[in-house]
Amino acid sequence: MATRRSLLKTLSMLPLAGSLLGTEWLHGQSISKTVLEPGARNFFKELGLRTFINAAGTYTSMTGSLMHKEVTEAISYGATEYVNLDELHDKVGERIAELLGCEYATVSSGAFGAMTIGVAGIMAGMDNEKVAQLPDVTGLKHEVIVQESHNIGYTHALLNAGAKIINVKNTKELEKAINSKTAMLWFLNANTESGPIKHEEFVALGKKHGIPTFIDCAADVPPVENLFKFTKMGFDLVCFSGGKGIRGPQSAGLLLGKRKYIEAARLHTPPRGTTIGRGMKVNKEEVLGMLVALELYLQRDHAKEWKMWEDQIKLISDSAKSVNGVETEIHVPPHANHVPSLKVKWNQNIIKMTPSEARNKLKNGHPSIETVGSDKEIGITTWMMEPGQERLVAQRLKEVLSNF
Ligand SMILES: *Cc1c(COP(=O)(O)O)cnc(C)c1O
Repeated sequence: MATRRSLLKTLSMLPLAGSLLGTEWLHGQSISKTVLEPGARNFFKELGLRTFINAAGTYTSMTGSLMHKEVTEAISYGATEYVNLDELHDKVGERIAELLGCEYATVSSGAFGAMTIGVAGIMAGMDNEKVAQLPDVTGLKHEVIVQESHNIGYTHALLNAGAKIINVKNTKELEKAINSKTAMLWFLNANTESGPIKHEEFVALGKKHGIPTFIDCAADVPPVENLFKFTKMGFDLVCFSGGKGIRGPQSAGLLLGKRKYIEAARLHTPPRGTTIGRGMKVNKEEVLGMLVALELYLQRDHAKEWKMWEDQIKLISDSAKSVNGVETEIHVPPHANHVPSLKVKWNQNIIKMTPSEARNKLKNGHPSIETVGSDKEIGITTWMMEPGQERLVAQRLKEVLSNF
């Protein structure tokens, strides 16, 4: 039990503590009404946290993306009633599968969680003893073959389930690596360009050898078509991040594909307790938030949004180029973060400042602006900004580059 002294100390740390102490609290009223009035508190300010304009992109460290009001409303709604967690997942899985024209789907704990439960489902199937056995893979098919150039670290999600990664360089090595312990073939869409085996051939190799294929598409909307394309192409499992381009909850994601594998993957998730996925719970609020974010994303006018991003990038590019010595390049990455993007560089004999120094000035200025970059350039995207912020970024970038 809290003593009165510690209670007063705690209360004094809350905003509006004066009024609470003065009247309401002492008369025994609940604090929740006064303190938790929506919009009444600036939580990040209270915590002494810097908020910023996100000119970088969907970075995990920068908390991904911002959710639309419809999504946060779905989340708030979810918090008001009890439902059975499995029944909710069943219904939402069916709804998402219908929306995306695939066999089945489930809301996962991010793309990373989707990979862990996906491979676990493939390894253990519908056998509850095997489910409980993981991450011990004794007696189970557990090797996952990956193109070496695709193995940039996200395969750790597969290791978490007990799988072993086998790296191969090309088709010949891949076929040679297949044996009675092979569980799955895994593809990283972001690195399509750097691996010799492309999508269709990869899927065909899986079918030829009777081995399921999984594609990580975490950061691969836009284009919206990708939500449909890879399940149609024949990948058995496909995952997306919830909190990147789809702008759902950052800790949610989508696992799409073959029903038998997704049903098996679900056996590793809560409410079931003795599983490797018990810690990868997706609460009802985020399940609803993910569904609504997806619905909104599918309804969006993607061509119009693209045009807006192009205009925003051009505005920022023109503003930067108006400074003597600055050069810009507009580009669109072919896979992953496939959006209009800007590179800004300059002659450092004219503008005596490194890109890191300029990025720090943007970050530490008002408003704070986060960018990406290297020792050669600043990288900017606008898709994670609120409309209008592009003007502030254009202005601040020009100011920073003009004052060295
Ligand atoms: C972001 C990302 C992940 C992790 O996705 P989460 O939704 O954060 O779990 C996995 N793979 C790739 C390629 C990513 O970009």
